[in-house]
Amino acid sequence: MRAEEEECQIAPKVGFVSLGCPKNLVDSERILTQLRAEGYQIVPTYRESDLVIVNTCGFIDEAVEESLGAIGEAIGEHGRVVVTGCLGVRESQIRDAYPSVLAVTGPHDYEGVISAVHAHLPPAHDPFFSLLPPQGIKLTPRHYAYLKISEGCNHRCSFCIIPSLRGGLASRPAGEIMREAQKLVAAGVRELLVISQDTSAYGVDLKYQRDLWGSGLLASRLPELAAALGELGIWIRLHYVYPYPSVDELIPLMAEGRILPYLDMPLQHGSEKILRAMRRPAATERVLDRVARWRRECPDLTLRSSFIVGFPGETEADFEVLLEFLQAAQLDRVGCFTYSPVAGAAANQLPGAVPERVKQRRQAEFMEVQSQISRSRLLAKVGRELIVLIDQVEPNRLIGRSSADAPEIDGRVIVEGAWELDPGDFIRVRVTGAGEHDLTAIPVDPIVD
Ligand code: SF4
Repeated sequence: MRAEEEECQIAPKVGFVSLGCPKNLVDSERILTQLRAEGYQIVPTYRESDLVIVNTCGFIDEAVEESLGAIGEAIGEHGRVVVTGCLGVRESQIRDAYPSVLAVTGPHDYEGVISAVHAHLPPAHDPFFSLLPPQGIKLTPRHYAYLKISEGCNHRCSFCIIPSLRGGLASRPAGEIMREAQKLVAAGVRELLVISQDTSAYGVDLKYQRDLWGSGLLASRLPELAAALGELGIWIRLHYVYPYPSVDELIPLMAEGRILPYLDMPLQHGSEKILRAMRRPAATERVLDRVARWRRECPDLTLRSSFIVGFPGETEADFEVLLEFLQAAQLDRVGCFTYSPVAGAAANQLPGAVPERVKQRRQAEFMEVQSQISRSRLLAKVGRELIVLIDQVEPNRLIGRSSADAPEIDGRVIVEGAWELDPGDFIRVRVTGAGEHDLTAIPVDPIVD
């Protein structure tokens, strides 16, 4: 019998359902890595599993419904289910709906979920099972990975319950992050997506303490960490960065090509009145000045953001201010959500609830304004040369992304023709056309490695 066949027969098998945002995906990867290290086999179907873990999201009501639906499906299809993740803080709601769940644990309670698996499906003891890739188990394609640099958040935005779900800011020491990044690069990762709830606050809780890295010390502070990641020779993309003054220090790294000229910066609104009600920094003029300065220093900078319309108390005048802000900021990529009252969020107590149809109308109007801005920013790229990271190789075209495109949320660059390339390869292209979200391009010499 071959070793793999033997493993399939002996190893306890775990099925896994991962819901929610990239931060939850990283938690899933950590749980799967630990289980795999202990000899569990990870299987893709309910039928093959001995036990199923559902890693839930509980951020907004739709996510709660999706999570409860996923738990219900796992119970119906399989029966032996452990629940973890953000929805885990609402254990009674889960148990009321599904009394037969084996265990419920909360967000990033890795020990809790592993103990629950041990209790209901003990690990097999065999040194063979400790075979584990050094980078751990990844749920993303081989050439990119999320790198979580901290948990939790010290802010108290009135529409958000993440701090009560995930606690205050808890940053990982810089050396630990760098070692993980180095392993990922050695395993073939060509792009690291740095994530957290509040990336610019990284290290505040550690008082920016220095940590061992290489033959020296590295401060646990975002500009220093970004510079060190930039030395790894791959793409480094920053998400969830708020416009704090320290972000100014990142722009030279982008202008020099050490990290990608890309900032994912959730701004949420353009009206200072609404921002104050959201309990967020309300200096929109200063944000616009900063954005203008960043663009002067780094003309290739791509700015992605997200906004909420229909927040309690938002009047037509506030909405107009938001549209004016959009026009002034000229952001490249923007998401727009209608306000959704999350159970437990302070904003639900605010007066002036906006009717659903008004929210929908404002969202459509917002997207109309922004799609013209996004389209004209894409059109300005026609004729330019870009470096593209290939995600997918199809018989007659390549699908990739430029520095302006994060996976899953931004656009793509489509390169027509049959090319002997693989996912994870970088190529140089010239942009030939622009659609609403995507670019078309042709390769140019030299196609870079
Ligand atoms: S910054 Fe605000 S929206 Fe983001 S996680 Fe913290 S509290 Fe929530």
